[in-house]
Amino acid sequence: MYQAFQYRIQPTVEQEAALAVQFGHARFVYNWALQQHIQVYQQTKKSLSFSQLCKLLTQLKQQPDYLWLNDAHSQCLQQKLKDLGRAYTHFFEGHARFPKPKKKHDRQSIRFPQGFHFKGEQLYLPKLGGLALILHRPLQGTPKNVTVSKTKSGHYFVSILCEVEASPSLPSTSQRPAVGLDLGLTHFLTTSQGEQVENPRWLRRSERKLAKLQRKLQRKKKGSKNREKARLQLAKQAERVSHQRRDFQHKLSKRLVREHSLLVFEDLNVRGMVKNRRLAKSIHDAAWSQFVRFCGYKGAWYGCEVVKVGRFFASSKLCSCCGWKHESLRLKDRAWTCGGCGTHHDRDKNAAKNLLHQALSSLGLEPTDLMSVETA
Ligand SMILES: [Zn+2]
Repeated sequence: MYQAFQYRIQPTVEQEAALAVQFGHARFVYNWALQQHIQVYQQTKKSLSFSQLCKLLTQLKQQPDYLWLNDAHSQCLQQKLKDLGRAYTHFFEGHARFPKPKKKHDRQSIRFPQGFHFKGEQLYLPKLGGLALILHRPLQGTPKNVTVSKTKSGHYFVSILCEVEASPSLPSTSQRPAVGLDLGLTHFLTTSQGEQVENPRWLRRSERKLAKLQRKLQRKKKGSKNREKARLQLAKQAERVSHQRRDFQHKLSKRLVREHSLLVFEDLNVRGMVKNRRLAKSIHDAAWSQFVRFCGYKGAWYGCEVVKVGRFFASSKLCSCCGWKHESLRLKDRAWTCGGCGTHHDRDKNAAKNLLHQALSSLGLEPTDLMSVETA
């Protein structure tokens, strides 16, 4: 299995300059390839393959006007073509918007698929030399590739993807229960066992600060030093929010996949939901898709399966005891009583139970098996 280890780095002035060149060339190639894709598609209604793009790039690098591209590490440029291919796939599968050109102030990154090596706490990269890693946790496994990035606020990181052994110290999956998970805004999640996790509302908490920094930025003259300073301050605050969110989601997802053998989520139509203007910000802030993604890949490490139940399944409206359907249940009804069997339900816990039942029955397991698992 693969695991990424991320470390902060502090490049020297010379290395910063060298990185700026590498980032710039990589960004140029990404945007150029995007343009090629769009043109070819308009003319032929066909997509360019990775190998076709590689060929075009080699030709481009031989043209007198583009000889400067040879200053870039050629494999980093090829990796950008791969990134673009991935962005296209995500778009066609409906997970992402159409790829946009990268801008100078966006997050920058280059990936080295090989040619790197380690010496003590130094990481050596082609064209850059030795970078001192700030090792807040040890690197494990066999490194497969290295990504160097610069955030919008000007911090540098390396992410090292390693092949590591699966973790052996967990109870076997047969001893870990299956659980349904209802994601929400009131509570970030509610499990079918009744556990509720508060929604930390990271964005909401620093919203006023962000708005103030945004106004400050708008008041500064374009191209001025003060504007750049204000831009960095805003980027730093926004990154702080995103780090807090990721940290929370990493810890929670890790705990869930270690404690369970199966996690069942609802296949949420996030894009449809954010059309509700009043809730859009809170939904973005909760970042459910990111959380489900974290659970998915961590589940593979810890032997926990992660499944999604189709979005047209009425998880909230069905009674998890008798199957009666509450047709007139409204979004604001946090609790309700079943008209069939009289059970009083917490809305979210009932939905989580239904998700679990639905997934188990589609996997061919009896809901009665699961009741015993659930109360165990
Ligand atoms: Zn009922």
